[in-house]
Amino acid sequence: MAEKNTAMAANFVENIIDGDLKSGKYVPEEIHTRFPPEPNGYLHIGHAKSICLNFGLAQRFGGKCNLRFDDTNPTKEDTEYVDSIQEDVKWLGFTWDDRRFYASDYFVKLYEYAVELIKRGKAFVCDLSAEEIRAYRGTLTEPGKESPYRNRSVEENLDLFARMKAGEFPDGSHVLRAKIDMASPNITMRDPVLYRIAHATHHRTGETWCIYPMYDFAHPLSDAIEDITHSVCTLEFEDHRPLYDWLLESLGFDAKRPHQYEFARLNLTNTVMSKRKLRQLVEGGYVSGWDDPRMPTISGLRRRGYTAAAIRDFCERIGVAKSNSLVDVAMLEHCVREDLNENADRVMAVLDPLKVVIANYPEDKIEYLVAENHPTRGGHRYVPFSRELFIEREDFMEEPPKKFFRLKPGGEVRLKHAYIIKCEEVVKDDAGNVVELRCTYDPDSKSGGAAAGRKVKGTLHWVEAKNAITAEVRLYDYLLTTDENGNVPDDFLAHLNPNSLRVLKDVLIEPSVRYTAEGTRYQFLRKGYFCVDKDTTPDHLVFNEVVGLKDTWGKVKG
Ligand code: ATP
Ligand code: MG
Repeated sequence: MAEKNTAMAANFVENIIDGDLKSGKYVPEEIHTRFPPEPNGYLHIGHAKSICLNFGLAQRFGGKCNLRFDDTNPTKEDTEYVDSIQEDVKWLGFTWDDRRFYASDYFVKLYEYAVELIKRGKAFVCDLSAEEIRAYRGTLTEPGKESPYRNRSVEENLDLFARMKAGEFPDGSHVLRAKIDMASPNITMRDPVLYRIAHATHHRTGETWCIYPMYDFAHPLSDAIEDITHSVCTLEFEDHRPLYDWLLESLGFDAKRPHQYEFARLNLTNTVMSKRKLRQLVEGGYVSGWDDPRMPTISGLRRRGYTAAAIRDFCERIGVAKSNSLVDVAMLEHCVREDLNENADRVMAVLDPLKVVIANYPEDKIEYLVAENHPTRGGHRYVPFSRELFIEREDFMEEPPKKFFRLKPGGEVRLKHAYIIKCEEVVKDDAGNVVELRCTYDPDSKSGGAAAGRKVKGTLHWVEAKNAITAEVRLYDYLLTTDENGNVPDDFLAHLNPNSLRVLKDVLIEPSVRYTAEGTRYQFLRKGYFCVDKDTTPDHLVFNEVVGLKDTWGKVKG
């Protein structure tokens, strides 16, 4: 994995860790972060920011980063998600070594911590219903009301909690709550629920438990169990930090206990990012699955042809701030384009073919011309050339405007890696559509040949007819439309872009790509970057458009 670009300013979490090392609170090997996804969906580009930050901090300081599945919500979680999350983190280039954990690994310990809180008089079993708890909670301007069950004795609480665990009570009849302060200005601190009853099957613990810890209880304690030092999360958890601290302090963890730090979550223009919304797109059939190439999921971006290096580069460039903002999706595309410009081989493909016959070229002849694979990295291949070819329909105009340097009646262009041709005749069908161009070629104008010096203004890509491969190409636009600021409105399903997918079935490609497999990326000359899709078989090639050649972001930024 690439070294961190030292020219980049350190982010604020790095500064905090630097401070903790300077003060002697920690030595580098003790620095310990975690990435804690809930396995209730596939990871998205926002998670990539958190992954790069957490694993990146550990790499930078010589510490460790754990992968921890925060699986405290049995009804929503699934091993399919666990598997996809691991695949995505690995693909992004990070490793948790042997430190893959699950909050569910700690269910026994967490239960014991809850018992300890009860013993310390800091938690109680409450019989209020969910609605009553909400009504008692108060508002931002009014304090809450104490639960009538708040002053149960330790013995009674221990007994009730044990019976909750033993399955004596139905869902929703009792909860365990922290005993903090119903008048706290921070609503999170108004006797928050720590445990709930849920007679549900957990994807790992099965039927063993019918009580499950709440996120706010499980999270700080899982951090503490794993000796996490810097628990980095997104800003919406800022109000939960006092509870995080209260729990750890109430249970007697010392100054080296984990501390929580919040950063701004990634928001992207044209993109919905919450798993809940992404699930709606999948379950509603609006996309082909979590890995639909239009999805902002890591698996979708990977299938589309985005590289892990480009995503890491993007996460580095956006930085880590303490206030929320909206990042232009064009910046992500810019990072992908930069990577592929450097690393993708060039080939020729004609998306919308128009036949060209070279009248003065021998009927049965086939020539193999040498073509460069990449302008700086080099490498070569052969492309066949013969009397019948295809060019892009839009590269010919019968009545062109003034500055049209492509093919026109009587005009000349160079065919890339090949010869200069001249358009002598336009053949039309009965309806008046152009169906073929009759051209002649200049045998002395071969690229790299003795008389190659003759210059014409336009150079076109093309493919030879007999050897061309027919492929399917999927062109993409944004899945969702936005307001003028690039935000997707809340009722995002009403803002689906009907043109987000366009399928071309008869694209013609030079034969050098015949047996390329899933995941290979190319630049189709003059057309953009394309990646071989997983639907490809040895006799049916399918490409996804990764990103176009035009850089809107780079241009704006100069
Ligand atoms: P979502 O709201 O998309 O469902 P989440 O926060 O519920 O996301 P988790 O699985 O709980 O998803 O997230 C795992 C980690 O990824 C958390 O630490 C969370 O803060 C972080 N994360 C989630 N979304 C983003 C984002 N858009 N930008 C940065 N970090 C994120
Ligand atoms: Mg969550």
